[in-house]
Amino acid sequence: MQVENMQKRKKILLVEDSRLTAMVVAEFLNKNGYETETAITGEEAVQKISGGFPPDLVLMDIELAGEMDGIDAARRIMKSRDIPVVFLTANTSGKIIDKIKEVKAYGFVLKDTDKAALLSTVEMALKLHEANTHARMFERLFENSLNELYIFHPKSLKFVAVNRAARKNLGYTIEELNTMTPLDLKPELDLQSFRELLVPLVSGEQEQVLFKTVHRRKDGSLYPVEINLQLFDYGGEKLCMALVANLTEIKQLEEEKRRKEELCRLMLQGIPSPAWLVSRERRILAQNKAAASLFGSKVGDYCWERVLGGGNLPDEYREAFEKNGSPLPGTKCYFCRGDEALDRNEPINSEVELAGNIWDTWWIPLGEDVYLHYATDVTKHKRMEKELRCLSVTDCLTNCYNRRFFMQKLEEEIERAKRNGNKFSLIMLDIDRFKSINDRFGHNVGDLVLKSMAEMIKNRIRKIDTLARWGGEEFVLLLPDTPVENAARLAEELRESLSRMDIQGVGRVTASFGVAGYCPGDSVDSLVNKADNMMYEAKAAGRNCVRYMNQCE
Ligand code: GH3
Ligand code: MG
Ligand code: MG
Repeated sequence: MQVENMQKRKKILLVEDSRLTAMVVAEFLNKNGYETETAITGEEAVQKISGGFPPDLVLMDIELAGEMDGIDAARRIMKSRDIPVVFLTANTSGKIIDKIKEVKAYGFVLKDTDKAALLSTVEMALKLHEANTHARMFERLFENSLNELYIFHPKSLKFVAVNRAARKNLGYTIEELNTMTPLDLKPELDLQSFRELLVPLVSGEQEQVLFKTVHRRKDGSLYPVEINLQLFDYGGEKLCMALVANLTEIKQLEEEKRRKEELCRLMLQGIPSPAWLVSRERRILAQNKAAASLFGSKVGDYCWERVLGGGNLPDEYREAFEKNGSPLPGTKCYFCRGDEALDRNEPINSEVELAGNIWDTWWIPLGEDVYLHYATDVTKHKRMEKELRCLSVTDCLTNCYNRRFFMQKLEEEIERAKRNGNKFSLIMLDIDRFKSINDRFGHNVGDLVLKSMAEMIKNRIRKIDTLARWGGEEFVLLLPDTPVENAARLAEELRESLSRMDIQGVGRVTASFGVAGYCPGDSVDSLVNKADNMMYEAKAAGRNCVRYMNQCE
């Protein structure tokens, strides 16, 4: 197979009622690399073209045997398909030539002319058709482009073509534009400045020129545009093509973005506590006055370094930050979790101690790449919380534990004793004749006595012991790992110390002590009752003494 035959062979439909002519012509065309098909009448030709695989060219006899002559058949074919038709004609009368022109045929060949003329006419018709097809394609692209496209003469500046998108937006007709130049659309440019823009193109210094300006529509309204000018060759002369992008939407989007940013900035300033806008990379994009003044942060800073560390933390914290990605030692996991949460676009909350204050901080994802980060000073709140927690277990006057806490402790101790058989004891003590102290010296002095006595006991007992105010001038002591004899010795010691204590202006203060050891089966109530009973025995025995239950029943 020859190389040229590898390309797809062009197909020619031969419409000829003389079988002999048809055969001769077909043979010749086949020899020259064309595929042929023959139709005898115009009707047959039209039918062949409407169905099946259409030919690339029709070679049409004018006088045909059927109802339809060649001219009619050509008209019908060209109406339904874009196929070039070349006529075969026996005569070239003016009438025939006019008809050929009328149907826009691609040429004609005289029958019985030399074969070379037939071949070149067919070849030229095929090439011309191909060129026309290309031209039409580009014309369509130009006309239908959604961008505004303009072609004008770089010298006269007159428009050669303006596409539909441009005409529609401008509101001018083709006829109006034919008499106009780009300057009629560009109120910001005069002839000289526009020509200056074209200089680098005309001189060949640049392949394109890009600039922004505004266009004016027929109704006088303006719109922002970006223009790309390029020269191209057209039939031996240079023309200028302008691709014009309408920037109205982009400008609107920019304006909207600017407005949103402004709103964001106002909101940030409106937050009374320190607040930042932070990028995905944890960089500060914007911040309010409180943030700048309280944390000294700056736009562009790495947020955690500045906000949770920056300058305020000792060097080892900073090193930890550099090593672990967190400025606070031991909080690495927390921050890792925080990081992961942020990467999943979930809000995170943390509490940070900084500059002596406690801050509750929040990271709220605002969008794909921005977080609102703010901190509220909860120092006061936290202090109050601590105080309340303290109040719930202690007695305000004497600062020892309260009865509720003691009961809880005693319950725990009973549970422990049940499990490991440890011995422990209770001491119950009641100040003697306290009422008369109040009566003689006043309530405040009575209070002082209570406080001094609690202080004295606290200083004497072990850390594991629990001293609580049972009520009024009665106190109770829980002594873990202490057999009752040892507890009784301690009670005796405390009694002794109290009786020798010098409380300003009060004179001698004594107390009566009851001691009981835990016995298997004891409950909180039974044990407290035993100690209480012993204490009453001490009172009955004349006060200022210790009584204890030395064995379990
Ligand atoms: P006894 O030796 O029998 O225990 O006599 P007493 O006077 O100590 O006992 P009583 O129970 O008759 O009196 C206790 C007094 O303690 C009555 C009460 O006014 C006083 N008291 C209770 N709580 C406080 C307190 O918080 N401060 C002061 N100053 N006195 C208190
Ligand atoms: Mg009492
Ligand atoms: Mg008393």
